[in-house]
Amino acid sequence: MKQHKAFDIAIVGGGLSGLIAALAAADKGLQTALVAPPVAEPDGRTTALLADSIAFLEEIGLWEGIKPIAHALCTMRILDGTNRLIRAPQADFRASEIGLDAFGYNLENKVLAALLRERIAAATAIAVFEKPAAALKETAPGRHAVMLEDGRTIEAAAYVAADGRHSMMRQALGITSRQWRYPQIALVMNLGHTLDHHDTSTEFHTETGPLTLVPLGEKRSSLVIVLDEAGADTLAALDETALARELEHRMHSVLGKLEIVSPVGRFPLSGALANRFGKDDVMLIGEAGHAFPPIGAQGLNLGIRDIRAAVSLAAASGHESAQTIGERYHRERASDVASRTASVDLLNRSLLSAFLPVQALRAAGLYLLANAGPLRRMMMREGVLPGMGFENLSQKLRSGFKPPVRSRSA
Ligand SMILES: Cc1cc2nc3c(=O)[nH]c(=O)nc-3n(C[C@H](O)[C@H](O)[C@H](O)COP(=O)(O)OP(=O)(O)OC[C@H]3O[C@@H](n4cnc5c(N)ncnc54)[C@H](O)[C@@H]3O)c2cc1C
Repeated sequence: MKQHKAFDIAIVGGGLSGLIAALAAADKGLQTALVAPPVAEPDGRTTALLADSIAFLEEIGLWEGIKPIAHALCTMRILDGTNRLIRAPQADFRASEIGLDAFGYNLENKVLAALLRERIAAATAIAVFEKPAAALKETAPGRHAVMLEDGRTIEAAAYVAADGRHSMMRQALGITSRQWRYPQIALVMNLGHTLDHHDTSTEFHTETGPLTLVPLGEKRSSLVIVLDEAGADTLAALDETALARELEHRMHSVLGKLEIVSPVGRFPLSGALANRFGKDDVMLIGEAGHAFPPIGAQGLNLGIRDIRAAVSLAAASGHESAQTIGERYHRERASDVASRTASVDLLNRSLLSAFLPVQALRAAGLYLLANAGPLRRMMMREGVLPGMGFENLSQKLRSGFKPPVRSRSA
């Protein structure tokens, strides 16, 4: 079998996490192998990159290229769109209150991926392998090699599994993952509209989940609407004109007349959490380690914090001492990943709950956030700059978090 030369780091998976990880590793001077088979035509999905991610992308020299193709998100507005007995008040949060120009920037995944691939093609420290990884083989205790589908072998001092929710790398290491479903579907699409969004992301909380609008360009926004299955079927069956009219009605015409400008994506809401985030010489990043519903723009932002940790550890550990990098990475990432998973789960459940005390708590929470200055600033900071806000609160959430029912191991 043909042996490929040894790399400092090998990254398996060419989704957004893998692409950013490869560029971050090259920026640290690591000789990098990227196993990234061509991807199917992407949907119109967008990602809101939050301040913490932007700081990292700036550090590794990518932000300057991304900023002009992304749209600033300066105000977040939460509106109670339920018909419940206890309703929450409107809450507006402005980035300027915590000294930021914007909470984050939103852009289409396919636009971001194209820019990242362009940078990778120009990076001399990155070798791209376009065949899928077929197996992870143990070559010595705690040491591995990646075998590609075409028979080639890649050896590296450390490995990053960025191969998504059904990660072959994770399974090859014997790391189990808890998977669970929520009784909801997210319909996702991009909209053109006649009124200005004023750089404001508007989130209507409804009985079935949030309806979130995020600015995407001039008079363009991305929409994620979370529905129960029957509600999703009903909307998805409408033609574009009827769907636009129905959505306009549900969002009280805050953006005027609507036009659907992308395919409509359908994502059953679910979660997944690996029981470990690293082992031996392998570190799991992005959805290989954790996945949760598209609520609160957390998924890739959490993945970028994985990348920061993985690449720093790989750069700091000498070529010879990488056997334990997986353990060190696990210790570094476990708390952040568990607390974000718990926060998103709690938020989704509080929206769904028909239980009056939960509704009251949510309304009281939003009332406090809308009116109590120090608390609202703390929560805003935590949302975009994790670790600077409610570390204590997240510890409590983490210790209380249990994956929901209908979970299984994979
Ligand atoms: C509707 C929606 C909206 C979202 N909005 C946001 C948001 O606003 N902000 C945010 O932070 N996050 C958001 N997310 C989450 C975000 O999209 C994900 O966290 C992110 O895309 C995951 O990227 P990934 O690279 O980890 O995984 P994937 O995108 O799943 O990439 C995995 C890659 O690995 C490849 N692969 C698999 N097996 C192999 C193999 N054997 N060999 C080689 N390659 C392999 C696959 O082909 C794929 O390209 C959203 C998610 C959804 C569904």
